[in-house]
Amino acid sequence: MIDPIDFNAFSVNHSGDYLPGSAPAQIQRVSIDSRNLQNGTSTLFVALEGTRRSGWHFAADAYRQQVRNFILPAAAHSPELQTSLSGSNLLFCQDPLHALQDLAQMNRHAFKGTVVGITGSNGKTIVKEWLAQVLSENYRVWKSPKSYNSQLGVPLSVLGMESSHQVALLEAGISQPGEMKRLEAIIQPRLGIFTTIGTAHDENFENLEQKIAEKCVLFADCRFVIYRKDVEKISGYLEQHFPPEVRISWSEKPGADYMLTVKPDGKKGSRLLLLGNDLSTYTFTTTFRDPASLENIRHVIVSGLVLGMSAQSVQRGLDLLHAVDMRLTAKQGINRCRILDDSYNNDLAGLEIALEFMNQQGKPAGKKVLILSEMLQEGKQSVVHERIARMITHYGIDRFVGVGKNFDSHKGIFPEQRAFYPDTDTLLERLSELNLQEDLILVKGARAFHFERVVRALEAQVHDTVLEINLNCLRHNFDHYRAQLKPGTKVMVMVKAFAYGSGSAEIAHHLQQIGADYLSVAYPDEGVYLRERGVELPIMVMNSAARHLDLLLRYRLEPVVYDLQTLRELADTATENLSIHLELDTGMRRLGMEEMDLEATVTLLQQHPHIQMAGLFSHLAAADEAAHEAFSRQQLALFDRWSRFLMQRLGCRPLRHVLNSAGIIRFPEYALDMVRLGIGLFGVEINGMEQEKLQPAVSLKTVVSQVRKLKKGETIGYGRRGRMHADGEIATLAIGYADGYDRRFGNGQAYVLIKGNKARTIGTICMDMCMVDVTGMDVREGDAVMLFGEDPSLQQLAECIGTIPYELLTGIGRRVKRLYVLD
Ligand SMILES: *Cc1c(COP(=O)(O)O)cnc(C)c1O
Repeated sequence: MIDPIDFNAFSVNHSGDYLPGSAPAQIQRVSIDSRNLQNGTSTLFVALEGTRRSGWHFAADAYRQQVRNFILPAAAHSPELQTSLSGSNLLFCQDPLHALQDLAQMNRHAFKGTVVGITGSNGKTIVKEWLAQVLSENYRVWKSPKSYNSQLGVPLSVLGMESSHQVALLEAGISQPGEMKRLEAIIQPRLGIFTTIGTAHDENFENLEQKIAEKCVLFADCRFVIYRKDVEKISGYLEQHFPPEVRISWSEKPGADYMLTVKPDGKKGSRLLLLGNDLSTYTFTTTFRDPASLENIRHVIVSGLVLGMSAQSVQRGLDLLHAVDMRLTAKQGINRCRILDDSYNNDLAGLEIALEFMNQQGKPAGKKVLILSEMLQEGKQSVVHERIARMITHYGIDRFVGVGKNFDSHKGIFPEQRAFYPDTDTLLERLSELNLQEDLILVKGARAFHFERVVRALEAQVHDTVLEINLNCLRHNFDHYRAQLKPGTKVMVMVKAFAYGSGSAEIAHHLQQIGADYLSVAYPDEGVYLRERGVELPIMVMNSAARHLDLLLRYRLEPVVYDLQTLRELADTATENLSIHLELDTGMRRLGMEEMDLEATVTLLQQHPHIQMAGLFSHLAAADEAAHEAFSRQQLALFDRWSRFLMQRLGCRPLRHVLNSAGIIRFPEYALDMVRLGIGLFGVEINGMEQEKLQPAVSLKTVVSQVRKLKKGETIGYGRRGRMHADGEIATLAIGYADGYDRRFGNGQAYVLIKGNKARTIGTICMDMCMVDVTGMDVREGDAVMLFGEDPSLQQLAECIGTIPYELLTGIGRRVKRLYVLD
């Protein structure tokens, strides 16, 4: 919600066709998705082109929810649309996204506080989140939600700034030259922060200098820009293009405005010694020890000081930062509850995102519960509580648990099932009163409430090895594949084998959300499992028999039929309509009808019109291998011929699909009506042609159980197969072959990443544990370990034991917790 904007005044001055209606034009919120509207009358609905879900046909849906102000694509202009939105104020323009950006710019102009713009390749979100935390010691802060830093995210963030905020923190991210200019116009930061420069999106820039220059466009109008002086490429550019009075640098070495050196502080963390150019000194302390966090913290310290905070207040803010995972995470809870952990921060925008995420989890067997701390930094409490109450109603929360003294005065506006506690300790003491059973629980609290304690109390005992699925990366990959297809081509996602090991129900819900059209599983019970968890998308089942007919009908599953025998049995036993997908064997030699079966298939289907051919498909045997391109093309040609024959003889138009992930990249011209996406969703480009365009969506992580010093010549593990070649240290990790960490990774075949260091395995892999060499790496008990993810990648790891990513992924043990993360 923002301070009111007059949509009339905006529209008459905007390019495009403005058709004012009779409805009031004061707007206080902007929505691009008709599914999370809250107060229609004060909402402006922007129908963006290109996104399927939010396309203009959702305008009518918004209208039903009382929305009367719209920005629509000019292409959607039609008398019918105008009638269906009668009375509304309609602005039709070439590019609704531009109009949204202009509107944001207007909100920016009205903002009197200080705007901070943060850019860089890594660390933007963390610096923003931490700085917000520290600044909220002194100021009322607005920050962009999560990583809203794109051409769409930035305007949406700016449209959340209100006059009551004193500082606004906004992230800007770019992937191509030219993009920053628009973001700069919307954000117009007065203080700029350049975090780091890395290799993301390198393919779109000529060189590093060009990328740095593009990012610095954000600082065009800044009074101050903060950067690290010893990153030469960045400081070189800034020093050439920005006057000295604008630049504020920090460094570990003398010569910068702030010298900030780091000293380890025993087991407690680190001390940061500050020497300002005015010769002021101060010592900050933090629990962090890793270089990336220490870099981010130094940006935060300098920014806090530049924004007028005392060193003492900055330190108070730093004390509240912990090495907690700040991302929204879904976890397994006690009593078969599911916990959505967002205990890192609490503001209205973040609450809405978290509630939206909660919605995507499907309906729990028990209740939807929200445990929320008060939001002191958001301004007037009565107004804030009104807004919280409205969101609670909108998102169908059954039960509300409020923590903090302020809720007391407005109890009445919350749902009937409610409970209030003055502080976190009281809540913890009386947690059992809440009687949580099979509930879906969102835990969201401001840092100072330490809700991680609540999460710990609710969490099922976790084995410390987790397979983390990053839903943002998943979506990125999904969008990348979809972008290869013509509009209208459907995407079926293969969620067989527990969605390649990642958890089929959770992934299916997310896919439903991001616009997948179809799902496919290998066996009927996998389909039943999904239906029982509320998945609504059509589901194809690759392997089923006529004896499964009841199950298929009851759960609306569409079987693949690959032989005449089954087709005949199904046709004879089915008493109601059944949708099937017919599989043709064009060369895989696994399953499918052959050319000689086609006539008989036609006859059977003609005789049994209740068997409906929903799909017609074939599978490529070697889509990912250039050496077999001719064979693939022969398969594609055969499929084309046979499918035409069937369609012509039967006079029907089933969905035709042949391409898997590899095929979508290699033969996009054969996408036909639908494609079948699998491994690519998880960030593996199996052809190796476009790997850099995908993001690793799954990572396997564990922790260090113990570290020990060994002498030269000592041996390690079963069969004494590991041997120290010099004095050193080894770490024992909480993962073994029973978790899917293959025995062949032992004896130095693979490495893991600990605090940025590559540590090779030493000795054989045990059932539940393994050892790695961490000599000289300052590794401690409890440190996080990455088995695969960004580095080493899943492909790298698979290669080093001569297998494929599919096998590694599907082999991850069932006892490994799956964590779903939205960052
Ligand atoms: C598993 C499977 C796919 C998906 O393959 P990927 O290589 O993971 O994209 C597509 N079609 C069929 C028939 C499959 O069995």
